[in-house]
Amino acid sequence: MPIALGVLVLLAAVVLMEAVAYALHRWVMHGRLGWLLHRSHHAPRTGPFEGNDWYAVLFAAPSVLLFALDVPAWARWVGGGIAVYGLLYFVFHDVLVHQRVPLRFVARSTYLKRIVQAHRLHHAVEAREGGVSFGFLYAPRPETLKAELKTRGRAGLRAPAGE
Ligand SMILES: [Zn+2]
Ligand SMILES: [Zn+2]
Repeated sequence: MPIALGVLVLLAAVVLMEAVAYALHRWVMHGRLGWLLHRSHHAPRTGPFEGNDWYAVLFAAPSVLLFALDVPAWARWVGGGIAVYGLLYFVFHDVLVHQRVPLRFVARSTYLKRIVQAHRLHHAVEAREGGVSFGFLYAPRPETLKAELKTRGRAGLRAPAGE
């Protein structure tokens, strides 16, 4: 498989992973069963880790398997795409937004500010239901999300974020 084509497959996998992450976050992690682990991420953390971290292990598994098993070249590129997405997600979510790693990394670009604010708005709701913004690397405009939050009845809403 030509490298250029492989890189295309990898990039497509990264984009697709955002859609997969959105769906899993919205319908599995905020679902009745998935919430058992994800709840820890919507409450103040008490130690260096939280139950929600098991999702990271779970989501890394397909990538690890695609590298470990004897699969066609394109599938290995997909595995690479999942790994790249995981890395971008980690830098955005755990380093930039939640500051779990002592790195001085400040969001300056319009794009980064937008996705950071969107994820903060996701955390404005501590309850399983009624939240907004389930994506990570793509987010609607903050005004759209705030308007959506207002129509949600404010059940489980913490003090309004950033207002
Ligand atoms: Zn959540
Ligand atoms: Zn978060």
